[in-house]
Amino acid sequence: MKDSKKKILDLENNKNSKRIFLLTLENSLKFKGTASKKAVLNTAMAKIPECRSDFKNTEKQVDLCVNYINNLSYLEQTKLAKQYNIKQEKKQQKQINEFPDLQNAEIGKVVMRFAPNPNGPMSLGHSRIALLNWHYVKKYKGKFILRFEDTDPKIKPPLKQAYDWIKQDIEYLKIKPDEIYRQSEKFDIYYNLALKLIEQGNAYVCICEKEKFRTLKNKKLECPCRNKSLLLHKQRWKMMFCKYRGGEAVLVLKTDIKHKNPAMRDFAIFRIIDTKNLNHPYLKNTTVWPLYDFASPVQDHLDGITHIIRGIDFLGREEKHKFLYDYFKWNLPQNIVAGKFLIKGVKSTSKIAELIDEGKIKSWDDPRTYSLLSLKKRGINSNAIIDFVMSNGMKKSDINVSLDILYAMNKKYVECKNRYFFVKNPIKMRILNAPKIKKIEIPLHPEDKKRENRILNFEENIFICLDDIDLLKNAKKSNNQIRLKGLFNIKIENIKEDMIIAKYSSKKIEKGIKIIHWISKNDSISINFVDEKNNKFIGLMEKNAINENGVVQFERVGFVNLIKKNKEIYAYFGHR
Ligand SMILES: [Zn+2]
Repeated sequence: MKDSKKKILDLENNKNSKRIFLLTLENSLKFKGTASKKAVLNTAMAKIPECRSDFKNTEKQVDLCVNYINNLSYLEQTKLAKQYNIKQEKKQQKQINEFPDLQNAEIGKVVMRFAPNPNGPMSLGHSRIALLNWHYVKKYKGKFILRFEDTDPKIKPPLKQAYDWIKQDIEYLKIKPDEIYRQSEKFDIYYNLALKLIEQGNAYVCICEKEKFRTLKNKKLECPCRNKSLLLHKQRWKMMFCKYRGGEAVLVLKTDIKHKNPAMRDFAIFRIIDTKNLNHPYLKNTTVWPLYDFASPVQDHLDGITHIIRGIDFLGREEKHKFLYDYFKWNLPQNIVAGKFLIKGVKSTSKIAELIDEGKIKSWDDPRTYSLLSLKKRGINSNAIIDFVMSNGMKKSDINVSLDILYAMNKKYVECKNRYFFVKNPIKMRILNAPKIKKIEIPLHPEDKKRENRILNFEENIFICLDDIDLLKNAKKSNNQIRLKGLFNIKIENIKEDMIIAKYSSKKIEKGIKIIHWISKNDSISINFVDEKNNKFIGLMEKNAINENGVVQFERVGFVNLIKKNKEIYAYFGHR
């Protein structure tokens, strides 16, 4: 047995095969003895560089390992884990996964921030950045600032509701900010600092055509405005507020026009946006707007930020910000780059905003957004989100993760919830010769005997799920029995479009028999079921669940979040 395993899995000859095998075993033990192919594949890709360049073979190897290990009992798996010293392996991985100390961080003196653009609720990617910052603030007993970077009304126009959504999301993630404010409150300070830069001769108002300015810059050449007098630039700056229109003038930071990287050469820090093009919930008449490469670093200094954890896309910007910091003689905060959180099937906030604009997605709580708002609605526990994010540690490289891992983690928190029958797309079934059963008792949770049983009433006419129709057709064809859960076995006599006729056959529970769910009309209520793709279905839920609020498990369907709205009940599907 042992030899054959080694042969199949090629554990001795191939170092990576062995690592994949161990990852599979570890994954399986984490999830009660069943490894997830997707999860193992993701982990292998993230942890073993060779696997990334050879996806096909990796997938094959993962398949072999998952099949092998899932066929072992939990006990056999734990034995194997001991044999391979899995615990030790875990520890080694933990060190990689864990959170390295921040440089130059002193207890009590660390100030960090989470600065989202309020153009939608938080995504899982945002959650990661927020939670990583929060982790270090707690570690160093520092200060956490939630700052709304609402200074771009053009490309990322802020959404009035999003400020509240983000505050609620932050609370959901158990982060406790010491300070919350929006940057759009700080414009007067920004204007004063801009004037200072002009007076220093480090910024100038350029009135050249945008294209002309760019062409000159690409050739490492100054535009005609660059060396005009300070007085003129101060006047032009004033005129930006009253005379110039959008696109006619920008305030430019003087850097190094001959810099080898064109992005570092003089760049705009303030622009004009005409009020008719404005789309901002708080600033309706403001026309002079700071750009990100001014507002963000300046505000970081004003907040006393000591360390910033930011996405890898901000990497080149630190050098840009250094020019500003040098002019003001400020100390740059420590920048720490966190790799991207890549989740298969999940779109970026900007992309979703686009789809919402186009009307392809109706709102931010649509499950297809995978926003925190939508995940909450689907009953994903905040602890599961925190576990999901933090289990990936603090890494510079991009992280590929799968939602299946999030769902597996969520299971830990919702597995204890009560179970009920639910029949999606109900179709009537009449049972002939049914024994005289009035009611049956089924436990609310099979593993918790302390909970009361629930009672289901049985009638001659019941409803079953239309999705089971193929199962019934096959049973009819092969003359097999079907079991109605908790009741008895039946045989299918006739399948009509709007009704199924069945006949009582026996009581005995037989091995391998297919079990389906059912519900009596008088014992159920009609509810709305919304799946992961936002498809809506009508269904019958057993009445016992009528007072439930929040997550329950619909047997054979999965975990749903029950929400009452306008006297109707909605069940939002979470996962299986
Ligand atoms: Zn110019």
